[in-house]
Amino acid sequence: MITKVEGFILSTVNYGESSLVINLFTKEYGIIGLMGKGVKSLKNKLHALTQRYTYGFFYIFYKENKLSILKEVDLINPLRHLHEDLFLISYLSYLSDLTNQVFKQSNDSEIYDLFMTTILKMNEGYDPYVLTNILEVKYLKYLGIELRLDCCEECGSKTNIVTIVDGGLVCQNCFRGGSIVSSKTIQMLRLYNLVDIAKITKINFALKDKEAVNLFLEKYYQDYTGLYLKSKDFLTKLKETF
Ligand SMILES: [Zn+2]
Repeated sequence: MITKVEGFILSTVNYGESSLVINLFTKEYGIIGLMGKGVKSLKNKLHALTQRYTYGFFYIFYKENKLSILKEVDLINPLRHLHEDLFLISYLSYLSDLTNQVFKQSNDSEIYDLFMTTILKMNEGYDPYVLTNILEVKYLKYLGIELRLDCCEECGSKTNIVTIVDGGLVCQNCFRGGSIVSSKTIQMLRLYNLVDIAKITKINFALKDKEAVNLFLEKYYQDYTGLYLKSKDFLTKLKETF
């Protein structure tokens, strides 16, 4: 029986001369492998619809724990803005890799909506730098290392917060040395954690504030997740070049 699923192609791997194995993130089944028979051939009608970062409805023969078979694709949104820009493609590449890793660790169905909402906002032209950091903050929960930004972890104080240690706040009285995280950065992390991505209508932060948040997240991911993504390196280099 053919099943219709909503999904986004995270990556593809060549299979033989003319076929592709598609790593599809679906709303219904999580991340599944799809066999696209003959789709690598330019003459195949599904050729253009089986490229990386395609967002659509996929008609498949679903097979649990095996490769499903792709039959047909209907585009939902061509994500034209994203596909036309090298910078944005690099963001897509990084977010696809990251999402693949996060989903492997948690299998939570909320991840799909978070991911797709972020991609669609990015395609609408909202700041990819901030959207990426927002998604990174929200993913921490699924990696088991959510930031705890309500009050000092030791004494419960909500005032005179000076830094974040191991993902939790520390106040002036309980501070025993170490690096400081600015109150602006803490405030932005809190906002990123709470904001409903679908409801964002304006993003307007100073570059230095965005960079401070990004730096914090980079280090936090490095220290606590053990994830290493080549696409992140590429994105960082690209940012430095331009
Ligand atoms: Zn304290």
